[in-house]
Amino acid sequence: MSEIKERLAHVMDRIHEAEKRSPYGQKVTLVAVTKFHPLEDMEEAIGLGVSQVGENRVQEMGEKFKALTLPVVWNLQGHLQKNKVKKAVAMADLIQSGDSLDILREIDRRAGEIGKVQDVLLEFNISGEESKHGMAPDSLDDVCREASLLPHIRVKGLMCMAPAYEDVEKTRPVFRKAHGMWEDMKKKFPEGQISILSMGMTHDFEIAIEEGANMVRIGTAIFGERHYH
Ligand SMILES: *Cc1c(COP(=O)(O)O)cnc(C)c1O
Repeated sequence: MSEIKERLAHVMDRIHEAEKRSPYGQKVTLVAVTKFHPLEDMEEAIGLGVSQVGENRVQEMGEKFKALTLPVVWNLQGHLQKNKVKKAVAMADLIQSGDSLDILREIDRRAGEIGKVQDVLLEFNISGEESKHGMAPDSLDDVCREASLLPHIRVKGLMCMAPAYEDVEKTRPVFRKAHGMWEDMKKKFPEGQISILSMGMTHDFEIAIEEGANMVRIGTAIFGERHYH
């Protein structure tokens, strides 16, 4: 068995076990995070049943987007610069990194130009770590109000990252708070629109699922360590 096949099977087992422990009874969607891994790894994962991939950088996503011949759902989850939004909107099924009103407005503008309604997640910096992107939790009301006025974006839910605590149990309050905010969001948009709670990575996805995540973004546990160059 190839390494990716073996690792992916193990990740899926762990996701299913965590689903059973969750009090929310949700089904979890895996986004396989392929950043810094070659197209062949992406193709192999898709061949093994992965239906969604995630990339951080528009440039890298563009290269794979052009070359990939298999059908897949494209998630963009890295911090976006304004000058990359046009390209991002042309490719992404879901932009998870809606991390400022400024960028949401630009996504709306660029989507409008091509007659698209772009699905997005609002990214919040729940822990308040300075190194993290994302909006302040106390801006939730304002951001939802402003975002719901933008005709070419459709807010589908919330994305967040927890700090990389060595003791992974410490992430639990962060994910619990995110789940509460996500429940609040549901009341601010049309019924059924807020459906995605994207949280949990290699280090902490089991805790995130126990706290209600229905989308996890996992790279290292499937593809191995990334080699930055
Ligand atoms: C890189 C990245 C991931 C995946 O991280 P792993 O620890 O490799 O699973 C998930 N979400 C975001 C936003 C990322 O940047």
